[in-house]
Amino acid sequence: MSQDVEAIKASYPLFRSDEYKDNLARKKEMYEECHPQEKIDEIFEWTTTEEYKELNFKRKSLTINPAKACQPLGAVLCALGFEKTMPYVHGSQGCVAYFRSYFNRHFKEPIACVSDSMTEDAAVFGGQKNMYDGLENCKKIYKPEMIAVSTTCMAEVIGDDLNAFIGNSRKEGHIPDDYPVPFAHTPSFVGSHTTGWDNMFEGIARYFTLNYMDDKEVGSNGKINIVPGFETYLGNFRVIQRMLKEMDVDYTFLSDPTEVLDTPADGKFRMYAGGTTQDEVRDAPNAIDTLLLQPWQSMKTRKLVKGTWNQPASDIKIPMGLEWTDNFLMKISELTGKPIPASLELERGRLVDMITDSHAWLHGKKFALWGDADYVMGMTKFLLELGAEPTHILCNHANKRWKKAMQQILSDSPYGMDCEVHTGKDLWHMRSLVFTNKPDFMIGNSYGKFIQRDTLSKGKEFEVPLIRIGFPIFDRHHLHRDTTLGYEGAIYILKTLVNEVLARLDEETRGMGTTDYNYDLIR
Ligand code: SF4
Repeated sequence: MSQDVEAIKASYPLFRSDEYKDNLARKKEMYEECHPQEKIDEIFEWTTTEEYKELNFKRKSLTINPAKACQPLGAVLCALGFEKTMPYVHGSQGCVAYFRSYFNRHFKEPIACVSDSMTEDAAVFGGQKNMYDGLENCKKIYKPEMIAVSTTCMAEVIGDDLNAFIGNSRKEGHIPDDYPVPFAHTPSFVGSHTTGWDNMFEGIARYFTLNYMDDKEVGSNGKINIVPGFETYLGNFRVIQRMLKEMDVDYTFLSDPTEVLDTPADGKFRMYAGGTTQDEVRDAPNAIDTLLLQPWQSMKTRKLVKGTWNQPASDIKIPMGLEWTDNFLMKISELTGKPIPASLELERGRLVDMITDSHAWLHGKKFALWGDADYVMGMTKFLLELGAEPTHILCNHANKRWKKAMQQILSDSPYGMDCEVHTGKDLWHMRSLVFTNKPDFMIGNSYGKFIQRDTLSKGKEFEVPLIRIGFPIFDRHHLHRDTTLGYEGAIYILKTLVNEVLARLDEETRGMGTTDYNYDLIR
């Protein structure tokens, strides 16, 4: 095919040229053995019906577009939040390529992570030898001060024992006895990326504290520990820290990858930047309490905080929206005795003002929503505060207790009455839901764009626009820098939602002399 070296075209304009159009049509006709277009259209129509939805929801042995990622991906993000730490995945190289590219596409940053590249022989005889070489090479080449080990499916299926392998690596002299190598088994055939984050965090916290509790005393360092959970909005780390600073509260953020995921382009490559120090983890049991910002996703961590650190791990909800941010700040105030300052009250007042200003546009708007357990719960709560109506809520990896709690939140509000909550379902289920009971918008990650495309294919009146909030977001830039927590996050979400509503309204009322009913400069 011809390209002009003086003006190389990218795929989008190139594939629209006649030469490529002919070529693609011939390829389809000669090699693809396609079904006739009428048949394809007929089946497409059928997949949008109630009848198909019922069959779809009976599906057991297949997941399509799963609305979750696997455990070690979460473990890698957790490890990136610690100072000079290299995430190390015991298992297949391809898995690690996937984790790195997944984060790389979302954060637009290089992601440091190594694998010990288990292949066929290791799958048969076990991966201990890989770990000997892997740990030694990793330490020598990348000079981390900690290596945080997780596992892929392959290592778990054959039952590799990380505790024994790491212990033997020390005995055989591949790594020094006192060199920190915390680990977590992260089998991907159970749980999700959020479970993997929790497991890795517990592994790191356990490594530095479990056998060193004798001289620890709850409250002796006067700090509050904050555990973010699987968090990909960099603004969320920053807003929580800002609010704590404004309250004059001493805190430790346990796992903070904001620096390493946001390095500047100043000619210097930083494999490591920022992060929680090992000393901060050692000191964590001396804090007044440890607050889990995503409690439904931090079960194992909670157990350690309560059982080993003897802290209350006070019950909080993800600080999203108005009421749950209020509750978070009041809990901090209760634990530390520090008052909530005027600056935060002012910020809250601004949010309330914005809610009032935009209420007329958001009231009664219907939203479908998917994502991780705590985020989905926080978003639902805020939608209800705005008078919006969640219609379909989907979380692939949440338990029955979560579902019950969600249903309670919905039934406490007049706006939650017509909502269905689905767990263990995927985005192909969500597709059926929005075709058979159309919401005004979907809120979710980039994968929702294919649902939007399908709904548009059926006809403009069926289109459900996607509002991109969640993880991963590959097809828009820099949204991960925004904030979804605290009053600041609520302001961002409100702004995003109301302006999508207004943009859609503009789109639907721009026909000259037909649908331009109002003087629509002012909304
Ligand atoms: S699901 Fe298993 S095989 Fe697939 S990327 Fe995750 S760890 Fe690797």
